[in-house]
Amino acid sequence: MKLSNLWQEKNVTLSFEAFPPKRDSDFDYVRFAVEQIAELKPDFMSVTYGAGGGTSAYTAEIARIVQAGHGVPALAHLTCVSSTRDRIHQELKHLQDAGVENILALRGDYPDGYDPTAPRDFRYAADLIREIREYGGFCIGAACYPEGHVESHSQEEDLIHLKEKVDCGVDFLTTQMFFDNSALYSFLFRAQRMGIDLPILAGIMPVTNATQMTRILSLSGTTLPTRFRMILDKFRDRPDAMKQAGIVYAAEQIVDLVANGVRGIHVYTMNKPDVAAKLRDSLSQVLDR
Ligand code: FAD
Repeated sequence: MKLSNLWQEKNVTLSFEAFPPKRDSDFDYVRFAVEQIAELKPDFMSVTYGAGGGTSAYTAEIARIVQAGHGVPALAHLTCVSSTRDRIHQELKHLQDAGVENILALRGDYPDGYDPTAPRDFRYAADLIREIREYGGFCIGAACYPEGHVESHSQEEDLIHLKEKVDCGVDFLTTQMFFDNSALYSFLFRAQRMGIDLPILAGIMPVTNATQMTRILSLSGTTLPTRFRMILDKFRDRPDAMKQAGIVYAAEQIVDLVANGVRGIHVYTMNKPDVAAKLRDSLSQVLDR
């Protein structure tokens, strides 16, 4: 199923993210976790590509399992920064063969020692989006950054490039995680003024591990509201309390987003079925679509 049809059918969608194994030997463990998440019947599941050391070869396979084995539409991530046109065409064929109809088209982070000025087939996500559009047959999503992408000089500049990206033929956007909903509302307002008029899914991260979070935040440039910083400080050395508090905080964010008319909630579930289940259960009426 193409995700572009989903927002015509549903008021609010709930989707979960999975990532492929880092090592081949982790495949069975990851598969088990992903299948448990799929059994919660989210509206769709996204599968990352090479992020955080994940093995890109498994993205199509995990997407196929989610879709064919559990009837949950899959969104496969694909990055282009270290790739060639031929390799991208191979990946697209591979995804098509696996029955995947939706792609989140990304530039990806620069690998160590990367020279951004060297000639490349793909420089920005927009180049990949054009390539996929030309290839045909896929519903295409892209990433956006409520607080601005970490490399951008300003939020305004980032928004101009986002509009260029959208105009290449994007069907929907998913945001980077944020912990202050007012950052999203401000972004939605500015995006609308820029003429960006397509479904924007709010990316929510239930924080279950404070140390891991500190590293992710420093890489992404996401800001922490004082209220959330106090929670991290208070519970960072008590894993069970941190997990509970992180899920409650994410649930409160989602209630507020839905109350304010946001139509898509995408949860960075980090391959944790228990977190996905608790969050979904605590929102069963709020997300009753
Ligand atoms: P782009 O849209 O190309 O933007 C990158 C930067 O270039 C921005 O600062 C933008 O303002 C700027 N820019 C764009 N066009 C131009 C232009 N014409 N001239 C000058 N500057 C320009 N990474 C992975 O490796 N695997 C994943 O699976 C993955 N999934 C993600 C999912 C989501 C929802 C998000 C938000 C991020 C994900 N990432 C993933 C991380 C992503 O790859 C990085 O954030 C990366 O640095 C930027 O990717 P992008 O597609 O947003 O890039």
